[in-house]
Amino acid sequence: MLRWGWSLLDDKRSRTISLESQQHKLIEHLRQHGIYDERVLQVMDAVPRWRFVPSEQLRAAADDRALPIAAGQTISQPFIVALMTQALRLTGHDHVLEIGTGSGYQAAILARLSRDVVSIERIPELSLTASQVLRQLGITNVDCLIGDGSVGCPERAPFDRIVVTAGAPKVPPQLCEQLTIGGRLVIPVGTVEPISLQVITRTVDGLITEDLSPCSFVPLIGSAGWPEEVPE
Ligand code: SAM
Repeated sequence: MLRWGWSLLDDKRSRTISLESQQHKLIEHLRQHGIYDERVLQVMDAVPRWRFVPSEQLRAAADDRALPIAAGQTISQPFIVALMTQALRLTGHDHVLEIGTGSGYQAAILARLSRDVVSIERIPELSLTASQVLRQLGITNVDCLIGDGSVGCPERAPFDRIVVTAGAPKVPPQLCEQLTIGGRLVIPVGTVEPISLQVITRTVDGLITEDLSPCSFVPLIGSAGWPEEVPE
């Protein structure tokens, strides 16, 4: 019985070591594909992506692709998570808003690079699972809220950084209004695939918009996003 217990423990330990080593390879892949912010790479190496995927996706957890999670949603592709996080230029002291908690994976990464994170998800089941996993990993500076994040979170604004992890038809003006001066918003925007990953900086003179990369995302559904039935 004791021997059986040990061998189960050994199995679990060797599975974790193998998942860790696959994740190290993923981080090397991100570096080779142009992710240069070492702080982002280090945090992505330390946060176990496999803890945020459903058990049937465990083998694919270190693949550089989006994977299905519950409720027909996805955990984003690691390269896109890295690109968006890098584009935020986090200082370690930022008050951050994430729209689209999904699995909670990007929230975990933001949490390690910011003062605190407010993360909004419209699907309660996802929000509850994400906040459980974050708690199990000892991440205590993420507040998971349920609701329509397309209008931001005026009661917790202003934010130093806002990241939207679902595609909006256009930039919701409310999100720009909830940025501090000098604050940055990273958001996928567009009505035709591929849409564009944009970085918007709020300055005293107004907004500066840069196009970062073409991308593809599940829709941002809400009053400042797409209607529930997205037109074909
Ligand atoms: N950041 C997530 C992660 O690391 O797993 C990926 C999120 S997934 C690509 C996009 C998420 O945005 C989905 O879970 C979806 O339900 C959510 N979403 C879509 N519209 C939303 C809205 N208006 N407010 C909040 N969440 C929304």
